[in-house]
Amino acid sequence: SARVAAVPLIGELELGFLATGVPIVGVTGSNGKTTTATWLDHVLRSGGVASVLAGNVGNALCDAILDNPDVEVMVVEVSSYQLQTIERFRPSAATVLNISPDHLSRHGTMDGYISAKARIFENQHSEDVLLLNMDDPSSRSLFGRTAGVERHFSTISSVRNGVDCSGEGETVCIVDDRIRTPVVRREDISLRGAHNLSNALAVIGLAHSVGLSAEGMADGLRSFRGVPHRLEPVRKLAGVSWVNDSKATNQDSLRIALMTFDAPVILIAGGLSKGSDYTALRELISRHVKKLILMGDAAAELSEAWSGATEMELAESMEDAVERARRSAETGDVVLLSPACASFDMYSSFEERGDHFRRIVEELR
Ligand code: ADP
Repeated sequence: SARVAAVPLIGELELGFLATGVPIVGVTGSNGKTTTATWLDHVLRSGGVASVLAGNVGNALCDAILDNPDVEVMVVEVSSYQLQTIERFRPSAATVLNISPDHLSRHGTMDGYISAKARIFENQHSEDVLLLNMDDPSSRSLFGRTAGVERHFSTISSVRNGVDCSGEGETVCIVDDRIRTPVVRREDISLRGAHNLSNALAVIGLAHSVGLSAEGMADGLRSFRGVPHRLEPVRKLAGVSWVNDSKATNQDSLRIALMTFDAPVILIAGGLSKGSDYTALRELISRHVKKLILMGDAAAELSEAWSGATEMELAESMEDAVERARRSAETGDVVLLSPACASFDMYSSFEERGDHFRRIVEELR
């Protein structure tokens, strides 16, 4: 996969670190890395900081540094595969967003997987910052383990140092020794969904760690358009919203996508099975999905796992799936491509799958 191919970046990533005194902000976790790193880069730039985005997002850190001599902050997305090979990588601010059992295969046990993520702060010094997610049990289990300063974020409880939501959860605040500085109203944050609120809190905590003021962050939190293929709004046609979530390659991501919408969903799912227990999503599907359109290798497996949960159709291709969705959709519905499967049965990547979906939807008349 793209992630495995990205492993060699890490040697260059270390070289990049050795060649510069530029502060590095490291973002790792099972889910939300690309969104959080890209959003942080956007917020820093909007706030006047010369930020450059690098790492697992696709460009090597050393190239990014060579190409941007005036860089002030490097925002680096780091996968756990990359963390396995680091020696001196030392982010002056880092976060472990969350740790989900979904990615266990390469790391064996949950403890092993958590330890792999913990390597992001193993070289931290006392002045460096580690930002942990109080809402995620595994991120929370890393409490007390960095040599640096620990800060916390939470969407549901209050923190002593870090970022939380106060005043009935309506205002996002930076907290220093329990003193609150409001940053942005929750409803003004551009990306929807509880997971994106969590990502926004991480962005705020990291931006604060590299010295951006609360006022300096607000614009970028409101104006970020999101990353393609992650709940990406494609268009609204005849009152129907079409959404591309091709990056949802596992059932965790599909769960999160479904919880984001109040409107009835027509769900296009399927692809190459992840071999997980898809029956766990039955309940959520029957609650949110008014029609299920299944495609790809996993269609039979999914139709068995979700049989009886809602109305179902099988599609032969993406074109067919879009056509079927269009026939079923009424004003106010959401048509969501959120496959819960890998793309490799029909495409070379989730990007190719999402681009194909978007192109077909954009051509609808
Ligand atoms: P990554 O780079 O870690 O794979 P992305 O930002 O590309 O993460 O998001 C991938 C998918 O993960 C999204 O489509 C969404 O379903 C889910 N996701 C994003 N942020 C979070 C989060 N904070 N917690 C759980 N799931 C998330």
